Formats: sequence, C-alpha cells, structure tokens
Amino acid sequence: MGVKEYMTGEAMNQDRIWSFTDLKKEVIDGGTCGKCGGCVSFCSANRIGALKIGDNGFPAYEDEDKCLTCGLCYMVCPQTHPLQDEIDTVYDWEPPIGHFKDVFSARSADTEILRAGTDGGVVTALLVHLLENGFIDGAAVSIAEGPLRRKAIVATSREELIQAAGSHWAEVPHLEEVGEGYSNFVPVIRSIRELEPKKLKKIAVVGTPCQIGAVRKMQVLNIVPSDIVVLTIGLFCMQCFEIDHLMDKGFMKNHKVTTDDVDGVNIKDDFMLKLKSGITVHVPLEEIEEIARPACLACKLFANDYADISVGGLGSPDGYTTVMIRTINGKRMFADAVYDGSIEYRTRKSMTDYAVEMSTIVSQVVEFAGKKKARGIKFREQYRR
Ligand SMILES: Cc1cc2nc3c(=O)[nH]c(=O)nc-3n(C[C@H](O)[C@H](O)[C@H](O)COP(=O)(O)OP(=O)(O)OC[C@H]3O[C@@H](n4cnc5c(N)ncnc54)[C@H](O)[C@@H]3O)c2cc1C
Ligand code: SF4
Ligand code: SF4
Ligand code: SF4
Repeated sequence: MGVKEYMTGEAMNQDRIWSFTDLKKEVIDGGTCGKCGGCVSFCSANRIGALKIGDNGFPAYEDEDKCLTCGLCYMVCPQTHPLQDEIDTVYDWEPPIGHFKDVFSARSADTEILRAGTDGGVVTALLVHLLENGFIDGAAVSIAEGPLRRKAIVATSREELIQAAGSHWAEVPHLEEVGEGYSNFVPVIRSIRELEPKKLKKIAVVGTPCQIGAVRKMQVLNIVPSDIVVLTIGLFCMQCFEIDHLMDKGFMKNHKVTTDDVDGVNIKDDFMLKLKSGITVHVPLEEIEEIARPACLACKLFANDYADISVGGLGSPDGYTTVMIRTINGKRMFADAVYDGSIEYRTRKSMTDYAVEMSTIVSQVVEFAGKKKARGIKFREQYRR
C-alpha cells in the first residue's frame, strides 16, 4: 500500500513529502528528539531495516537506500507539525490545555492497587477493570526490570498491571552504581509495533504527552496497528530524567540526601524524593533541570491534551490521582470502573466543594502547562544561538 493511501484530510493534501533526512535535520539535530521511537517503530520500511535506534538512543538510518521517502516518520513525530490541525480538529483542542469534560481527584478502591500506585493508583485500577471486563486485551505500560530500570511491556494480566504500577526505587541498593544513560523515560509505543504477532485486538496505552501525541498521529493516518489502541491514558509530564552520578548533583547535596536514603521519586508541583525513613524531601523543579533530558527542557507538552484521559498528581492530595476526562470514550470507560466500584471519587460535602476542587485543579494544570511552554520556548531559543 502506498503511503498516500494511509493519509486523510490535511495530510493527504500536503504538497511536500518528507523523509527521515528532514526529521534528522529539524528534530534530532535541532535538539527536540525525545527518543520516543515512533519514527523507527512506524517506518514504512521497518521490516526491511531503513531505520534503527542508534547507540545513543536517537533514531538513525540503518540503510538509507531502503528508505521509501514516504514521510511517515516525519509525520508521526510528536515534535513536528504537519498533522497538528488535523489532530486539533479530531480532539476538539481548545486553549490552553485542550478539551476536557470533567476533572476530579480519585483513587483505587482496591487497597493492594492503592498501595502499589504512584498517586491514587487510578491508572492501574482502571486498566485492571477494563481488562477483567473485556474492554481491553492488554495495556502498553512500563514495568520495573531491575535496579532503577523500567522497560515497556504489553501487560495482559492483573498481576502484570500491578507490577507496572508506582515509581518505587526500593530495590536499588546503591543509586550511585546506576550507570550512565539511565532514564526514567520508557519508550512504550515501541512495544505496540511488536504486538502484531500476539493478535491482541484492543489495547490501552499509558504514556507521556510525546508518546500519546505520536499514537494520535498514527491514528489520524490510520497506520496499523494504531487501530487497536482503544484507550489512551496520558500522564502529565514536566520532564523525564537522565540520571548518572546522582550523588554529584547539586540538589542531592543541597538537600543532604544520600542515594541510600531514597525509596522513590514522584513529581507534582515539585520533585519529591521519598526517603526510606518516611520523610519526603521537596525539591523545586528548577533545581532538577540538571538531570532533565535536554529534549524535555525544550518540550512544550504538559497536560497530555490529546489523551482520552489525562492523569497526574498535581492538584490532588496525597493518595489521590488527578483525573481529566477528555473524550466520550474515556468518560464511558472511566464511568464503568466507578460504577463497578473499582475507583472512588474523593468525597466532597457539596456541589460547591466539587466546583472548588475542579477549578483549583484546572488552574494548577493551566499554570504548570504555561510554565512548561515558557521553559520550552526559552530552551529552544538558547539552543538556536
Ligand atoms: C515520566 C513521568 C513524568 C511525570 N510527570 C508528572 C508531572 O510533572 N506532574 C504530575 O502531576 N504527574 C506526573 N506524572 C504522573 C504521575 O507520576 C502518575 O503517574 C500519575 O499521577 C498516575 O498515578 P496513579 O497512581 O494513578 O498511577 P499508577 O496506578 O501508579 O500507574 C502508573 C502507570 O504509568 C506507567 N508508567 C510509569 N512510568 C512510565 C513511563 N516512563 N512511561 C510510560 N508509562 C509509565 C506504569 O506502568 C503504570 O501503568 C509523571 C509520570 C511519569 C511516568
Ligand atoms: S521509509 Fe518512510 S518512514 Fe521510513 S525512513 Fe523513509 S521516509 Fe521515513
Ligand atoms: S521524537 Fe520520537 S518520532 Fe521524533 S525523531 Fe525522536 S524518536 Fe523519532
Ligand atoms: S517532557 Fe515529557 S512529553 Fe516532553 S519530551 Fe520529555 S517525556 Fe516527552
């Protein structure tokens, strides 16, 4: 099938066809590649090896002669814009944080999941409910695979989903031993490509805004197998980290934390180092820019505007997840999990309390989305100089 046959609307009307050479020049050499792997995973010449993930994690030509100059890699990249108008239309995007139908704090009603979850365990509770009730056959998530490392998997059981929950570092004996190149960014969308042989028909994808952006672009272009993604759960995302020689970092010294003290990390309105003693050390986000991936500092995406459901810790009390329902599909699936008793809303005394909660959360999300956009613009300008 020719690539034009994949395309619809705006994409179909493009006069220009791009290639990986454009992507390299504009995004990779331009410093905004977030290593999501979308271009390599969905390259039309994937099976004959036109592209590869290079040693440094950035995509590269494996054999340029095999490139079909179809432009798909360029179009699905979350850092390019040829499909922007199309996805804005499909997902009713409106400023400043995209369209949403409802916003609230919620948590898992299952204590095992609540304990395992990063915030309120809502993501895991929802996925377990959807799996056990036949809405999905699996979910692309990330799972711990040893000291400080996570890998992308498609979880197909409650046990795997619970294993994927949370962001604990408890099993790490000495964080300073973690080698260079560790990153908490997990390229979950690469696992979708590997799914075809498994014959899963309906999957959910959990991902950062760049990852969900790439999935949405694939869906707009009808690229197989994005058609099997029936739900996208988008994480709020201020930044991902690349951690090496953690103890040398200023913020660890400033806050008198040693690597042996750390049990886990989380981000809400600041960076939280959760210590084994039970104390949580709060570090301003500006202080941890030194461990952010450069592409994340140049990134302007925060609230996962195109997901069916966006989630984060920001705006909710400890033990709860902030949930932003964006699409009818997201609303239907979430409502089913609440109706079934898998997820519970935070109790509010009155409709006034509910309205206050909603506007507080929205204003915090808008504030952080604005901060991130301003940071992205600043870093892009610095990079250009
Ligand atoms: C890299 C990253 C950055 C984040 N930044 C912010 C932020 O700035 N502000 C904020 O409010 N919230 C942020 N979050 C979201 C927050 O940490 C929680 O994931 C969210 O509130 C859901 O909590 P939960 O308890 O409902 O999820 P859980 O039930 O614990 O489930 C979390 C799900 O996310 C999946 N996951 C974990 N790591 C990754 C990853 N790297 N890529 C893709 N999927 C992953 C897990 O496999 C699991 O399925 C971030 C999350 C991640 C992974
Ligand atoms: S074949 Fe298409 S998708 Fe693959 S590298 Fe070439 S232009 Fe990109
Ligand atoms: S951001 Fe993703 S799709 Fe874009 S160049 Fe980097 S790896 Fe490829
Ligand atoms: S900040 Fe988040 S959304 Fe942006 S490139 Fe990094 S991981 Fe992706």
